[in-house]
Amino acid sequence: MTKKVILCTKNKGKVKEFEELFNSYNIDIKLISLFDLDDNDEVEENGTSFKENAFIKANYYYQKYHLPAISDDSGLCIDALGGAPGINSARFSGLGPKENIKKVLKLLDGVNRRNAHFTCVICYIDEEGKANYFEGRVNGAIDTKETGENGFGYDPIFLVEYEGKIESFATLGEDIKNKMSHRANAFNSFCAFWKAKK
Ligand code: IMP
Repeated sequence: MTKKVILCTKNKGKVKEFEELFNSYNIDIKLISLFDLDDNDEVEENGTSFKENAFIKANYYYQKYHLPAISDDSGLCIDALGGAPGINSARFSGLGPKENIKKVLKLLDGVNRRNAHFTCVICYIDEEGKANYFEGRVNGAIDTKETGENGFGYDPIFLVEYEGKIESFATLGEDIKNKMSHRANAFNSFCAFWKAKK
């Protein structure tokens, strides 16, 4: 039987990615987004790791609606910045995604070592209240300029190798990104867990 699970994010880009991932993997879960629930609560992400923040979000809605809940916490970690912005990715500049990108480009101005990775931790809290975690990562590098129109967040400056070419996530587009992203990798582990449960 299809299970109802709350998808605990207010990021429309992520809702779309999760819905596409669930559909493409044929997972028997009906995702209920916070938009479906018209839920405007603000949950303070005051954890000190991706894992803690993923738990804080999933646990808040699990407690509120008494339904299984899935959340992710993710971010961009740049080697030359000691792993920043990391768990502060969404609020790095305090002024939104465009300014976050500008801040990164400014901090890396003249820096050659531009390695970076996206990390994602998914937390799934089941009907018994047990938290299960799934981690994914994608390695890449930070460009010196923005390219591409797709995706969200830091996608226009995050470069990966795809079919022998170096392109930004925003240039590659969602279909390709969804096959290789940190969220897709974490999601693959979740799917393996879900199928093994049956
Ligand atoms: P979260 O919603 O608390 O997980 O914050 C994640 C933040 O990390 C987002 O607001 C983006 O700034 C960044 N981020 C996470 N995943 C991605 C991605 O796939 N592309 C671009 N930026 C991302």
